[in-house]
Amino acid sequence: MELDLQPLELQTPSFHPIVIAGPCSAETEEQVLQTALALAEQGYRLFRAGIWKPRTKPGGFEGNGEMALPWMKNVKNETGMLVSTEVATPQHVELALKHELDFLWIGARTTTNPFAMQALADVLRGVDIPVLIKNPMNPDIELWIGALQRINQAGVKKIGVIHRGFSSYDKKIYRNQPMWQIPIELRRRIPNLPIICDPSHIGGRRDFIAPLSQQAMDLGFDGLIIESHIAPDKAWSDSQQQITPEQLGNVIEQLIIRDKTVSTEDLRQLRSEIDEIDDILMDLLTKRFRICREIGTFKKEHNMTVLQATRYNELLESRGAQAEKCGMSPEFAASVFEHIHEESIRQQLAVINK
Ligand code: PEP
Ligand code: MN
Repeated sequence: MELDLQPLELQTPSFHPIVIAGPCSAETEEQVLQTALALAEQGYRLFRAGIWKPRTKPGGFEGNGEMALPWMKNVKNETGMLVSTEVATPQHVELALKHELDFLWIGARTTTNPFAMQALADVLRGVDIPVLIKNPMNPDIELWIGALQRINQAGVKKIGVIHRGFSSYDKKIYRNQPMWQIPIELRRRIPNLPIICDPSHIGGRRDFIAPLSQQAMDLGFDGLIIESHIAPDKAWSDSQQQITPEQLGNVIEQLIIRDKTVSTEDLRQLRSEIDEIDDILMDLLTKRFRICREIGTFKKEHNMTVLQATRYNELLESRGAQAEKCGMSPEFAASVFEHIHEESIRQQLAVINK
């Protein structure tokens, strides 16, 4: 996948990962400035605050809108930080540019909608500031890439993405399911695209911010966007997931930043061992499926059904128990054997219907 990208230029000398911090919403002029001053004092250079807030239901605080834009300018003047907000409509973009915001992000609900993305791309034509694109609400990597392409085709080259997790009916532990395999696949397809993790919106809880941030660093992501508020308990939106600038300092200080410069050459020996084992696995699977096809012939000759449910259940159970003894999770073993069984059924059906 080719995108025509340029470096984001959001890196600051004092931190290795890009750290964007600030409140969920710009609530009052004072809250914005106090939060920014406390963040600047900790050394942060990139400020976020929501001016227009997408709320699930009407009636809540939907952001202060245009009135709050001069507060951001004030942050720039008082702290020297670069300031950013979420834009969802062409009008938001025009106002944000008029008030000299330094970079923009596009929220998850907007990335989900190709019409909205195209409208934003059209208004961003010729604009040279960084644009960060959050993942869509649903776990659809093509939709995410489509959004990137629309913005890039409009000539915006300083593009990054924000991984904020995916909405689900079943909330389980996290507010939004991280589904790390999706940003990992995005990195595989577009290696030079900066990925920033949003542990605040993935976790939905303060105590998840540190472990999720560490996980993002372990995966080699390029930065973090973390909601920080001068008085989190009094926040008008997302209060349970915001932390004070001091708490943010602790989270960042404790992060272990992995060395991306260690050459993968050092792993060559181990990787070649893995390749050898995979060859053996493929060989064994080939043998296994040959026997399956023989079973298929037997079933055909004896007019038996292909799916023998008791045998399948016994197999899943015994492999699960075996896996546990070998230090693997039984669910992992069950899912591997479900896939093997599916292929086995496919191959048997091919023999029977020949
Ligand atoms: C936000 O960053 O404040 C926000 C609304 O995020 P998301 O689009 O990820 O829900
Ligand atoms: Mn928020």
